[in-house]
Amino acid sequence: MYNIVLFGPPGAGKGTQSEKLIEKYGLTHLSTGDLFRKHLGEGTELGQLAKKYMNEGHLVPDEVVIRMVEDRINETPDAHGFIFDGFPRTTAQAEALDEMLSHHKLKINGMIALDVAEDILKSRIKERGKTSNRVDDQDDEKINTRIKVYLEETLPVADYYNTQGKLKKINGVGKIDDIFSNITTVISSY
Ligand code: ADP
Repeated sequence: MYNIVLFGPPGAGKGTQSEKLIEKYGLTHLSTGDLFRKHLGEGTELGQLAKKYMNEGHLVPDEVVIRMVEDRINETPDAHGFIFDGFPRTTAQAEALDEMLSHHKLKINGMIALDVAEDILKSRIKERGKTSNRVDDQDDEKINTRIKVYLEETLPVADYYNTQGKLKKINGVGKIDDIFSNITTVISSY
């Protein structure tokens, strides 16, 4: 049983690699972006609340995200471990996650950080925007805001896990299967 944080900037390929990890290890995918988009689509109160932040490329407030993740973990008592994708995105979220997991006698095995240069991220996101129906994928200003928010607010989360000796960086550019294979090598060291 593994609990893994898949980390990286928007467009790094977290969603793509998560799908492959779920298949190989039978893990439960917990993507906060996907959960928010589901709430948005269903028009829930939470979706309404998150919408203005998401559409501008800003972070949804910590307490909202943390509550949603906590509910999801509690709803999945028989999970064989989680892949956290797009979460934690702030140090406060990382601390809250450790606390939540400790209630279930669980812990994060490690963070795998996908490394991709900024110009490649931007072109990947714009390409995805042609089919993703995501307003935050279709506009240069919103893409730039997300990358800026990542650098300023989210990158410190890597330090949080690095201090615990849990950070491994992987090159996120190349063939999807090669990147996946490098990720599995890291996981086999847990
Ligand atoms: P990306 O693929 O660009 O990394 P996600 O699908 O993970 O984006 O998230 C889309 C949006 O949802 C974010 O820009 C943000 O507004 C909101 N969001 C997702 N996860 C979080 C989080 N952990 N904390 C705050 N906001 C979040």
